[in-house]
Amino acid sequence: MAETTPMMKQYYDIKSQYPDAFLFYRVGDFYELFEDDAVKGAQILELTLTHRSNKTENPIPMAGVPHQAVDSYVNTLVEKGYKVALCEQLEDPKQAKGMVKRGIIQLVTPGTMMNEGPNGAKESNYLTSVFSTKSGFGLAYSDLSTGEIFTTHLKSFADVLNELLSLRTKEVVFEGSLSDSQKDVLKKSNITVSTPIQDQEKHAEVSYAIQKLSNQAEKDATKQLVTYLLVTQKRSLAHLQIAKSYEVSQYLQMSHVVQNNLELVASAKTGKKMGSLFWLLDKTNTAMGGRLLKQWLARPLLSISEIEKRQKIVQAMLDNYFIREAVKDALKGVYDLERLTGRIAFGSANARELLQLSRSLDAIPQIQSALFESGDEDLANFADQIIDLSELAKKIKDTIVENPPILTTDGGLIREGINEQLDRYRDAMNNGKTWLAQLQAQERTATGIENLKIGYNKVFGYFIQVSKGNIAKVPEGRYIRKQTLTGSERYITPELKEHENLILEAENKSTDLEYQIFSDLREYIKTFIPKLQELGNTIASLDALTSFATVAEENNYCRPSFHQDSQEIKVIAGRHPVVEKVLADGSYIPNDIQMADDTSVFLITGPNMSGKSTYMRQMALIAVMAQVGSFVPATEASLPIFDQIFTRIGAADDLISGQSTFMVEMSEANEALQNATKRSLVLFDEIGRGTATYDGMALAGAIVKYLHDKVGAKTLFATHYHELTDMEKTLDHLKNIHVGATQENGKLIFLHKILPGPADQSYGIHVAQLAGLPNKVLREASKMLKRLEAQGANGLEPASLQLDLFSDSSETEETTSDEAISDTEKQVIEDINNLYLADKTPLEVMQLVASWQQDLKDED
Ligand code: ATP
Repeated sequence: MAETTPMMKQYYDIKSQYPDAFLFYRVGDFYELFEDDAVKGAQILELTLTHRSNKTENPIPMAGVPHQAVDSYVNTLVEKGYKVALCEQLEDPKQAKGMVKRGIIQLVTPGTMMNEGPNGAKESNYLTSVFSTKSGFGLAYSDLSTGEIFTTHLKSFADVLNELLSLRTKEVVFEGSLSDSQKDVLKKSNITVSTPIQDQEKHAEVSYAIQKLSNQAEKDATKQLVTYLLVTQKRSLAHLQIAKSYEVSQYLQMSHVVQNNLELVASAKTGKKMGSLFWLLDKTNTAMGGRLLKQWLARPLLSISEIEKRQKIVQAMLDNYFIREAVKDALKGVYDLERLTGRIAFGSANARELLQLSRSLDAIPQIQSALFESGDEDLANFADQIIDLSELAKKIKDTIVENPPILTTDGGLIREGINEQLDRYRDAMNNGKTWLAQLQAQERTATGIENLKIGYNKVFGYFIQVSKGNIAKVPEGRYIRKQTLTGSERYITPELKEHENLILEAENKSTDLEYQIFSDLREYIKTFIPKLQELGNTIASLDALTSFATVAEENNYCRPSFHQDSQEIKVIAGRHPVVEKVLADGSYIPNDIQMADDTSVFLITGPNMSGKSTYMRQMALIAVMAQVGSFVPATEASLPIFDQIFTRIGAADDLISGQSTFMVEMSEANEALQNATKRSLVLFDEIGRGTATYDGMALAGAIVKYLHDKVGAKTLFATHYHELTDMEKTLDHLKNIHVGATQENGKLIFLHKILPGPADQSYGIHVAQLAGLPNKVLREASKMLKRLEAQGANGLEPASLQLDLFSDSSETEETTSDEAISDTEKQVIEDINNLYLADKTPLEVMQLVASWQQDLKDED
């Protein structure tokens, strides 16, 4: 076997410290992957797989990426859940004695990636840390790009999992042991599990972050989180904020399943923003406003006074159109202060980003004065919270040139007059360049070569260039020949080289000094980080509340009021905010939701497609909107404060936990039965339909009774089991309501109107007809329905009915039901029955068939 070279030895040493990461090992202008990393990386990143030490018995697989393009390769891997260790050359290879020193400069992981995800700047990327204790778990999470940290403590792994999924966290640093099934769930949820990194060093960031925490589990989880961030990022992180402790019970609680079902931030079908409540409410003008709004939607408030604080600003913004427009305009000029602050702390902000910060800070006084000008007390109070940092903005503007380059190391960043030494270097450079121009003019005259010119390249420095045709004109001994090109000859003179030294020295010193001044400025801005973060937060709230006002005005929403001591719901002319938006203007039929304090269950019947789910979801969305401080789609709304929302909607299989549809249905029902309180809202849509009719009906009935007798939560229960509507006779707190429908010419017309009492029938076959099922199926279904109903009425067991589907028996032919067939179809059947074939020619029969066909088609 070939001997390991010193470089590969160094590689293996470093790799052994990062076994679970792709090691990107810097060699010259490339990052190389070796061994298994190369094989796997080449496949994922579509790189060419080559081999090192090709001639030996065991060549080492190798694949490389150019260093300028490294970011996109790293992103691809990290987005797929992998980690990448970036290994840099830590000294200049030209000056290194022996092996170039190399080391890891950053470990990029799914939870620490700072690039914007596919959903852009309004998306947060959370790293979560979980710390197991005897009595439960501490959980802390952070978005590294903004430095915010939140922490809580939870009792069970199920609670932890729910938080992880609600946060859409990409990576969890887990201390403690995980069972195989827990690992499996995390894997299926695309959450990378990392082990905590121990670090003996005391970090200021850790003590800063935990200073306000009292719960030990929260402290431990936060310490673990911050340490992981520091150790992977390998730099100080001055923007990490003081951790804020929260209790899940401080907010309206909704499991991640409920949040998904209600499509709060993403459509359940597409997983995209479009069609979600966030899509509707998000008219924010800054990315931080958008992110905050999303956070609010996942954590609606419970405190009426806190909700009213938000409502007051929304109201004031609604009442003051011109102020609102002025604020919106000014907000458009505010960049993402939270993430800019993060990049400044991280040391990755360039001069353009410092200017963005300065421009953002310049927009703040406009916002503040607009709020003061309104004369509105609430807006003025809000304006008082806004910190004015225009001095900092001025300092940045005075230091950085108007259009700086992206690179911070090549100069051209700093204004003149900022630093005397820098100005002197620039003078020297300018003088040198004037001297070069003079030299060019002088040599042209002396040699008579019109196109003689002074040029520069990195290898030879300054040179005099003469084109091929003029070489003969160069006086003997005037210049020293340096390089021959196809079309020209390049020369130097000792005098030119002397000036070159002066110019290059000034240039080098000047770019170094510029970088120094730039870094000093960045360091100076770091001292403002807490203030910038506070400002970012205030502006984000203002942006989100202004967005509520805009949406409320555009869609005619009303300000809801709340009562603490009663559970009465009164929503007049309520609408489903998203369905209303996607339907044609004015076609949404508003419905009231009026539930007295002592009514706990609405049993909703009505045809499929009539609007039962929409009605139920409408209630939940109105509750969520109201409790985040938004106005609601209704003409009047007076609501209790809901503590939790439970849903059993739709028939989506829970692929993550590997449960069947019916099992998911029952688990979700159980969740509500076990945890709902009198103050909760429960939406159950067609409970029991996942099993046999009698099983399902029995379960549905028992669940309604339990909710009614034992839980008392406000429950909207949609069902197709008409038999359940009889429960109204015995359950005092249950009311039947139904969605109206009517028939015209045998066709079903949906009224989408909620009416009192139970529905008269379920119209399932009519809906099937609307869906275009073959007539034969519809006829058979109608026929069977009649027989079932007849047998049911005679006290027989419908389950014993023999289903002779599509049998050719004459009985089947004769008992054609007219329930689900149209007048045209009846006419066609009659015509066929009455047809005397003997007096028709084949052509006449064909014409008749064609006309029947046409009639039937016209009817469709
Ligand atoms: P199923 O029992 O099949 O689940 P459903 O009764 O729950 O049906 P929904 O899904 O709520 O019916 O509504 C079906 C469609 O009817 C909606 O997508 C919407 O387009 C329309 N709709 C519902 N409610 C209204 C309304 N109030 N005004 C206008 N259109 C409505």
